[in-house]
Amino acid sequence: MIQKIRLFGDEVLRKTAEPITPEDPKAAQVVQDLLDTLGANEEFALAAPQIGYSYRIFIINPIWIEDEDKRTPMVFINPELLEYEGEQFMLEGCLSFPEIYEKVKRAQIVKFRAQDLHGKWKNYTGRELFARAAQHENDHLDGILFVDRISSIRRKLLHGKLKKMASTTKNGVNVG
Ligand SMILES: [Zn+2]
Repeated sequence: MIQKIRLFGDEVLRKTAEPITPEDPKAAQVVQDLLDTLGANEEFALAAPQIGYSYRIFIINPIWIEDEDKRTPMVFINPELLEYEGEQFMLEGCLSFPEIYEKVKRAQIVKFRAQDLHGKWKNYTGRELFARAAQHENDHLDGILFVDRISSIRRKLLHGKLKKMASTTKNGVNVG
């Protein structure tokens, strides 16, 4: 089911998400809702807290695969980021912050592992966009948002906008 995207100011985005047993039917439901909601939006990655579920799950549509027919959204349950290499500094956006794009420094390569819906652990090496998405989405599971990772000067410049956004967000519904 398509769920409403939780916006900055919604407390669920600041919670540390709970691990979940992949075989738990709840996990399958969260994954389905993530897939449905991602499909209805224009971003390519989404974490469970962004649709109101405080569980350690995110999905990434591998848009770096050129042939769209060969893209299947990847599901990561209970991910653990293990190794970071290099640096990249690029504009980033987030569905929970409509129309805000800021440069964020991330590792160029990230090695991580995660479970699939059958509970099987798989290892991944994410590079560039994949690395960036894995770090951004994994942060969501720890209640960390991309505006926490921008320079303090940029954050000061955004302060008024973010304050306004938080004050108009009530229980995930943008009423402003
Ligand atoms: Zn995000």
